[in-house]
Amino acid sequence: MNLHEYQGKSILESFGVAIQRGVVVDNAADAVTKANKLSEETGTEWFVVKAQIHAGGRGKGIVTETQSNGVVLAKGIDKVEETVNGILGGHLVTKQTSKDGKKVNKVLIAEDVYYPGASEPSEFYMSVLLDRENERNIIMYSTEGGMDIETVAEETPHLIFKEEIDPRVGLQGFQARRVAFNLGLSGQAFKQMTKFVYALYSAYEGCDASMFEINPVLKTSDDKIIAVDSKVTLDGNALYRHKDYAAMRDVSEEDATEVEAGEAGLNYVNLDGNVGCMVNGAGLAMATMDIIKLSGGNPANFLDVGGTADAERVEKAFRIILKDPNVKAILVNIFGGIVRCDRVAQGIVDAYKNMGEIPVPIIVRLQGTNAVEAKQLIDDSGLNVHSAVLLQEAADLVAEVLK
Ligand code: GDP
Ligand code: MN
Repeated sequence: MNLHEYQGKSILESFGVAIQRGVVVDNAADAVTKANKLSEETGTEWFVVKAQIHAGGRGKGIVTETQSNGVVLAKGIDKVEETVNGILGGHLVTKQTSKDGKKVNKVLIAEDVYYPGASEPSEFYMSVLLDRENERNIIMYSTEGGMDIETVAEETPHLIFKEEIDPRVGLQGFQARRVAFNLGLSGQAFKQMTKFVYALYSAYEGCDASMFEINPVLKTSDDKIIAVDSKVTLDGNALYRHKDYAAMRDVSEEDATEVEAGEAGLNYVNLDGNVGCMVNGAGLAMATMDIIKLSGGNPANFLDVGGTADAERVEKAFRIILKDPNVKAILVNIFGGIVRCDRVAQGIVDAYKNMGEIPVPIIVRLQGTNAVEAKQLIDDSGLNVHSAVLLQEAADLVAEVLK
């Protein structure tokens, strides 16, 4: 589960990570009052207004309606309302969103932390990630913060450092110091950075995250080390033991159809292609997507209906697949191991009749227990449903109906 920047920052703060402080608003009327309060608490006179959407690249992103960027500096309290109005309620298009962008329902008004002082502020990159292959947590960091880390990785990979942490022993003192050293820090900034790394790592572990990405981590001109941005992914399988974090879920950021499918207990991921598929088992679903590709189509979704493919579930799955206007055909590929194929076939026929006309051809391949009876049921139904036995036949049928 992904979090908004402001939510990630509140978690960081609770683990003792120094953050750029701010207030969240969902309407412009509150903006000035809240910004004034922030001013009293932090002493800031300038503010940075930041769109809260589940996508990065907001600083360079453009709000379609106003042409404002998604992160804008307001140089004074009198500029706050106007700046908020340029972002809130609009659609922000960034490198990480679709071309329609994402609706901005909330903005964070944060203290300006790039104030002048004894030295120039500098921006670092830091993330904590899970390296599944090596069974380690990794702190990845770079002096080249603030910008696109993918570009840094491509053009100057030697500027990205990695610290591997064995979860059984945890982050060691020398490792935190090595991070600070490699970032070229000394004195007070060095001390603050080791503290920052410790706190960040404990936040990552403590909330069962799979990623904490802070870009930029800022060294202020007076040598404070603070998190200016936060991108957090929590492990969905661990949310049951973090009710407070689970409550941070923002369904409006998720694909509406995926949310609906989830509620129905279907494992569905929307994709760009033209052939919908309904499969039982994740492995078979992957293989089926390959078959669709090989037959000249493109999968419109990943959909695992799970073990019980009864009429009700099948109907729900059809309805969900058909919400996608790009779907030109549907391939059902179900292996009857626990579930009997004739049951599934009956389910398909019943669902079809119940829904009235299904506007696209359906190809059904059922294998396993009672596969022959199942094929007979489909063939006798008189519906726009084609049956196949072999995968190749199913693929050929997909190619044919796409023509
Ligand atoms: P992202 O573009 O979605 O990654 O959003 P960020 O939170 O990283 O903000 C983008 C950029 O805004 C940062 O890299 C900074 O350069 C700039 N920025 C963030 N906070 C401040 C601030 O307090 N003052 C100033 N002047 N710039 C800021
Ligand atoms: Mn950022």
